[in-house]
Amino acid sequence: MKISDEIFDLFARRGREAYFGEPVSQLEHALQTAHQAELVGATGSLVVAALLHDIGHLLHRLPEDVADRGIDGRHELIGAAWLAKGFGEEVTEPIRLHVAAKRYLCRMDKEYFDRLSFASKQSLVLQGGPMNESEVREFEASSYSREGLLVRQWDDTAKEVGLKVPELSYYQTFLKNM
Ligand code: FE
Repeated sequence: MKISDEIFDLFARRGREAYFGEPVSQLEHALQTAHQAELVGATGSLVVAALLHDIGHLLHRLPEDVADRGIDGRHELIGAAWLAKGFGEEVTEPIRLHVAAKRYLCRMDKEYFDRLSFASKQSLVLQGGPMNESEVREFEASSYSREGLLVRQWDDTAKEVGLKVPELSYYQTFLKNM
């Protein structure tokens, strides 16, 4: 099975699941994040990274209330590693870094932290909290930190109930052209 088919299959099977403590489904969240990327004219690989940034949640079998149970699924690593069989680092690296980007922004920008949703603040604790100084330096030195930050910012706004955005089929050509 080609990876693009596996992705469509995953969203078909599990896309309706809730997005951890937020009012939208996994699929709605993915589509809204990708749409944010498109709205600002992001490259094709960043649109794909935005669409697939949380695919790790669909690959493992943790219950929806994992954060309540004090578990961090490390979905960014699971997703990036799985996608590496079909995509290059311009897709996998922003995904791998999107949780680090949140920890970075929480360290650098108090207002960013204040704006986070309740669920996102809750998972932050499990993800290690705001970065310390050496983590900040390491993050800034990584090649895809800028892209990781972009995905993060689109991610944070992609939780709007009932927002009309292009459907998954719209991204078929993006996935096939990678
Ligand atoms: Fe997300």
